[in-house]
Amino acid sequence: MSEKYPHVLSKSRFVSGVQCAKKLFLELNQKELKPAISASQQAVFDQGHRIGKMAQDLYPNGIDLTSLTHFDYTDAIDNTLNEMRKKTPVLYEAAFYNNEVLSVLDILLHDANGNIHAIEVKSSGSLNDYYITDASLQYWVMANAGHAPETFSILNINTNYKKNGPIDLKDFFKITDITKTVIAKQAWISENIEQLKLILKGSEVPVKEIGKHCSDPFQCDFKSHCWGNLLDPDKIFNIYGGGKKMWDLYHDGITYLADIPENYKLNHRQICQVNGQKTGASYIDKKNIATFINKAVYPLHFFDFETINTIVPVLNGTKPFQQVGFQYSLHILNNMNEEPIHKEFLANENDFSNIQAKNPRQAMIDQMKADFGETGSIVAYKADFEMGIIKKLAEDFPNDKIFLESLITRFIDLLDVFSNAWYYLPVMGKSASIKDVLPTLVPHLTYKGLNINNGELASKTFASMVEGNYVGNLNDTRNDLLAYCKLDTLAMFEIWKVLNNEIKI
Ligand code: SF4
Repeated sequence: MSEKYPHVLSKSRFVSGVQCAKKLFLELNQKELKPAISASQQAVFDQGHRIGKMAQDLYPNGIDLTSLTHFDYTDAIDNTLNEMRKKTPVLYEAAFYNNEVLSVLDILLHDANGNIHAIEVKSSGSLNDYYITDASLQYWVMANAGHAPETFSILNINTNYKKNGPIDLKDFFKITDITKTVIAKQAWISENIEQLKLILKGSEVPVKEIGKHCSDPFQCDFKSHCWGNLLDPDKIFNIYGGGKKMWDLYHDGITYLADIPENYKLNHRQICQVNGQKTGASYIDKKNIATFINKAVYPLHFFDFETINTIVPVLNGTKPFQQVGFQYSLHILNNMNEEPIHKEFLANENDFSNIQAKNPRQAMIDQMKADFGETGSIVAYKADFEMGIIKKLAEDFPNDKIFLESLITRFIDLLDVFSNAWYYLPVMGKSASIKDVLPTLVPHLTYKGLNINNGELASKTFASMVEGNYVGNLNDTRNDLLAYCKLDTLAMFEIWKVLNNEIKI
């Protein structure tokens, strides 16, 4: 902590405190209750860092005022004051201080007239409410320190940008002027600063009931502390599609699923879950399952894509955050008396360099044309996802549009059986995910023991291979990716078998 500029609040603390004063207090005083940063949180930070650097390239030749430590910003604040006096055209990480509040701005510009333009960089495609809170706090500190910006803007990602060659930073980013909005919030900011400072200077943990604010705008790291066993599977916060219902029940003093009154209005899936908790009863609707099974046309094609969706698009012709397929697995079943035939595709990561003879998406389409039979249902789990990837391919590869669109008409969604609770076992709890359904129906088949055992990890692994950050044995990892995706479609086939047998009994 700086002796010269002792700060009680910063912009991250302020945003945290506005979400929940107790959260802010615990972050500062009981850090040990906070779980360690997960790999996916770290990946988000790393992405944010990369986007921040790209934004600096959009406003090049700036002076970087980043503090040498995260604990003492004296150097950054003094250096900022010095550069502000000189009206240096571009500053990165300029630090301002006023009345125990610190703020660090991503990019600051001085125009030819010496006016200040403040820019905060965000690595999302939308303008979230808390960006305004964050920016308003920064405006407050700057203005009260005698450096009121002429404009305050958010620089984030233009999701309509389509890569064509090197990233065009002017097109990749979009800038939104929020000056009027942040000025309108200044009184609210002053009020909240005073309240939060009082709380932080006190020694008592603020009293705050759990509520929707615990996950809005961020999942709070102290949920296990404040919520205790309310997150257990037998509690109402685990009811499928709970929303308002679970809060209404909680405020009526009901915490156990089994205590929900008989006459309380629930949907079919929720009724199955509550009955499962009360009596251990399963629910199997043979009629609906039979209708679902019988509408399928053989040969069946159990199908699953794996995708990357990087913020910075890798492949020409793709956009930020676009789901780009790099792998698929396909089990083809001619009839129930035979074993399925397996087909698979895994792109070569080097083909994402944009200099290859063949686009890897085209290579994937070509193999799909060879692998898919001309007839027969395509069975996916959460089929909207696979259909969405194919629709995008059809848009981007007009020569294959007819083939790709013909696939879309053949999909059926295995998820329907479980999300509609035509087949429900109490151990499924509120989940209809294949990862939870598989062990209950086909216990011998498991994702446990696989080096890559979920779609997010598969995606991040392949993205790191494509972006050149991958560390490890490439061949082994490619085999891990193939094993994971293969298990997804084998799992669908095995679940299909169970359902088939069920309707025969
Ligand atoms: S879990 Fe909820 S009540 Fe507890 S600190 Fe977090 S936001 Fe506040």
